Amino acid sequence: MYKCCYISKKIVITAVAFTVLAVIFISERFLFPSSAYSEEEDAVFLPVIMYHSVCGKAPQEYIVTPQQVESDLQWLSSHGYTAVSAKQVCDYANGTGSLPPKPVMITADDGHYNNLSQLLPLLEKYDMCAVISIVGSYTDVYAENDPHQDNYSYLTWDDINALTASGRIEIGSHTYDMHSLSGERKGCSKLSYETAEDYQSILREDLSKLQNEVSRHTGQSPVVFTYPFGAVSRESLPVIRDMGFAMTLTCREGPNYIVHDPQCLYGIFRYNRSGLYFTEEFMRKLMAGE
Ligand SMILES: [Zn+2]
Repeated sequence: MYKCCYISKKIVITAVAFTVLAVIFISERFLFPSSAYSEEEDAVFLPVIMYHSVCGKAPQEYIVTPQQVESDLQWLSSHGYTAVSAKQVCDYANGTGSLPPKPVMITADDGHYNNLSQLLPLLEKYDMCAVISIVGSYTDVYAENDPHQDNYSYLTWDDINALTASGRIEIGSHTYDMHSLSGERKGCSKLSYETAEDYQSILREDLSKLQNEVSRHTGQSPVVFTYPFGAVSRESLPVIRDMGFAMTLTCREGPNYIVHDPQCLYGIFRYNRSGLYFTEEFMRKLMAGE
């Protein structure tokens, strides 16, 4: 009797552990699918760089100097990489376009003014492109009140139009006003006690506000959604898909493999380009999955 109970207890523990692992595995594939396709025949390795502020201040985790960016772009260029737009990546996933050999995607978060004054001229010099994900409230409030300071300003709507007019920049959504760590909510993630319906309606309201503003000011509608602080909730996906976003960017580090399946575009991994690295060190990490 004792032995029987012991065995069944062991079986139950094993079954529970197996279920937990299976749930984690399935959730990971659901939230971050692009890493799961490495063995597919049509899989294209896509490293993605995440910049933030590009200015003359002392380099930090989220601040790089223009010289560091130039060194990165020089490295990419001399090693045969071609910067690709989110549209090119989406077209490949949808089976309507191709990707060049050794593609790389460059992204910059938060909508810093120096992305126009410092990053764009470098992209022009090295014939590259980037996705810049803006926070609507930063543009509406901070940028309008104190514009065009390299070290701290955010992009105004005129700046954003200048970026898109360059033909090198796609504007992504980084939420209208959910880029915060100060309240209970981390970025736009779901609170544990919130119902899925309540959360989805809050998220939809915020994202719609920025989509409407971008479309009113630029005539374009972002197709890239960038999770603030990389905080991803599975309940966000139905809203994001339904609103027409074709790609989501996270802050999780890892390789992406793009295949002819648009599902692989949700949960793209990126490497934060900290100003505390040398180019060679950073590129070694970025290209590890090649
Ligand atoms: Zn951000």
